[in-house]
Amino acid sequence: MKITLNSVVSVTYKLNSKPEGGEEKFIEEAGKNNPLTFLFGVGGMIAGFEANLNGLSLGDTFNFSIKPEDAYGEKHPDNLVDLPIEAFKNEKGEVQRDMLKVGAIIPMQDNEGHHMRGVVTKVGINDVTMDFNHPLAGQHLRFEGEVVALRAATADELAHGHVHGPGGHHH
Ligand SMILES: [Zn+2]
Repeated sequence: MKITLNSVVSVTYKLNSKPEGGEEKFIEEAGKNNPLTFLFGVGGMIAGFEANLNGLSLGDTFNFSIKPEDAYGEKHPDNLVDLPIEAFKNEKGEVQRDMLKVGAIIPMQDNEGHHMRGVVTKVGINDVTMDFNHPLAGQHLRFEGEVVALRAATADELAHGHVHGPGGHHH
């Protein structure tokens, strides 16, 4: 069989990212012991990833690059936010200066209680600039790997919209 809509696919991969005109950097990998397993074609993966795997067979290898617009999008200036330094106070009302370093990742909540992670990009006396873009926004992604398992989804998996068993949901 070939990878198509509603296939259950397991792949190993190495992911490298590269900004436009910049150097490639290793991000993460999934090996044979913990492959990425997913239901193909239901929108759980980035579009460019599935487009490049479409039609491959068990044992096929791949090595492809995806442009930012088919991956996590471009960095958006609206996602750079200046926050007052008071937003970084602890329970005692002290500003936690030691965690305010450029490049530090800080978990935060917005006014509606949504959890988000921001990267500190600038620290001023009264303000801190945080970048809430996805860490891979603006990056070209290169995936290199192999299709290590492939089967048709069961009726239950199709009804739930996700994979059951190894690499998926257990319920
Ligand atoms: Zn389920």
